[in-house]
Amino acid sequence: MLAPVMREKSSQLVQFDDLGRRSRKSLFGLDAEDLSDCMLEAGEPPWRGCQLVEALYRQRITELDAITTLPKALRQRLAAEGWQVGRPAITQVFQSADGTERYLVEGQSGDGLTMETVWMPEGDGGESGDGSDSGEGRDSDRSETLGASSFPRSSAERVGDHQLGSTYGLGTPVLDSETREDSRQRATICVSSQVGCAVNCDFCLTARLGLQRNLTAGEIAGQVLAVFDRHAVEVGRDRVNLVFMGMGEPFLNYGNFMGAVRLLVGEMGLSPQRMTVSTSGIVPGIERFAGELPEFRPKLAISLNAPNDAVRSQIMPINRKWPIASVIDSVRKVKLRPRERITFEYVLLGGVTDRPEHAVEVARLIRRTGLPAKVNLIAWNPGPGIHYATPQLEAVEAFRRTLMDAGIPAYVRKPRGRDIYAACGQLKRTVEG
Ligand code: SF4
Repeated sequence: MLAPVMREKSSQLVQFDDLGRRSRKSLFGLDAEDLSDCMLEAGEPPWRGCQLVEALYRQRITELDAITTLPKALRQRLAAEGWQVGRPAITQVFQSADGTERYLVEGQSGDGLTMETVWMPEGDGGESGDGSDSGEGRDSDRSETLGASSFPRSSAERVGDHQLGSTYGLGTPVLDSETREDSRQRATICVSSQVGCAVNCDFCLTARLGLQRNLTAGEIAGQVLAVFDRHAVEVGRDRVNLVFMGMGEPFLNYGNFMGAVRLLVGEMGLSPQRMTVSTSGIVPGIERFAGELPEFRPKLAISLNAPNDAVRSQIMPINRKWPIASVIDSVRKVKLRPRERITFEYVLLGGVTDRPEHAVEVARLIRRTGLPAKVNLIAWNPGPGIHYATPQLEAVEAFRRTLMDAGIPAYVRKPRGRDIYAACGQLKRTVEG
């Protein structure tokens, strides 16, 4: 008889039935050590755990019965004990005219709450994820043309009920061969760490949800694999960057966020230098992050968004707890790799944070930190019920120019997927395409 449950870690999510009894237990989200322990407790040799790692994270198998490296009798015994693969699955797809896709992803808990993940072919010009500068200006015209021709309109596809019928083959991205090749070369996946968010930034649609729950490590890593499968991404061949900038504040779900990173790096073979985590400035989280081993530490982005504490506290209440100086002090503790830079994300709110004097102040602030840094500028993306204005294009360019003139690399992130609520600050499980 299989022992009931191995030691529980934050990365494991056990489901309960209506009577509160344990029902389904997910293998996905357990690391190599956990899986070996699991097999030992089942009376199997620990190397069966390695077979599970290979099946779950390298071969990306989603059904227990399809893991044929395990004997059939063992698969049946695991299933009878309530084990399943339990990998998160895409349930709905929204396709933008610009090629971006936004997904609603069902997690492991069965609570009906979905998380959001975004696929941006060619990235968004802001974060290349590998220590190099963004791809700004590189082939951008071509990529926009390809995106537009392949995704003629924004649309919604509900996986499983053929909302759009055969035009948008289920589980299959609408990519011609040329676009597919380009997507394989370069794309960015924006990953959520929580359902909703408690940080309550005034300009952000996700904040309107409040915090609904933390995601498990398996749910965070599972978003990536679900999107990899959809786009036939091959690890080691394709240049796909991960940004933990979706719903939620990763450093308020620190253990599960880093658990996911360890799965993605350790079990799946992704490079942490192709990953960037963005925080609103959770100082204890940044300090903990500073202690992570470089081989498992993504790059760090700080969501700055304002030139000074007065403005920042107005639009980001978290600043009252951890003002800019304390955030910068904690960032200084992160030991950067050669050529690595801290990214400062800056959302430009028309008339509020986009004025010429703000640009001068931001330049001064960043220079004073003495950190190797760059700035990603994001023109605010509109959301229903949020009363800010999108900045003028000229104001965005003038802001960027001021930073550049001050010797600070600055990039403008392309607004991706605005028409499907996939752009920065727009993730709110909106179901209108
Ligand atoms: S901007 Fe980020 S940290 Fe702020 S409320 Fe939105 S999701 Fe949370």
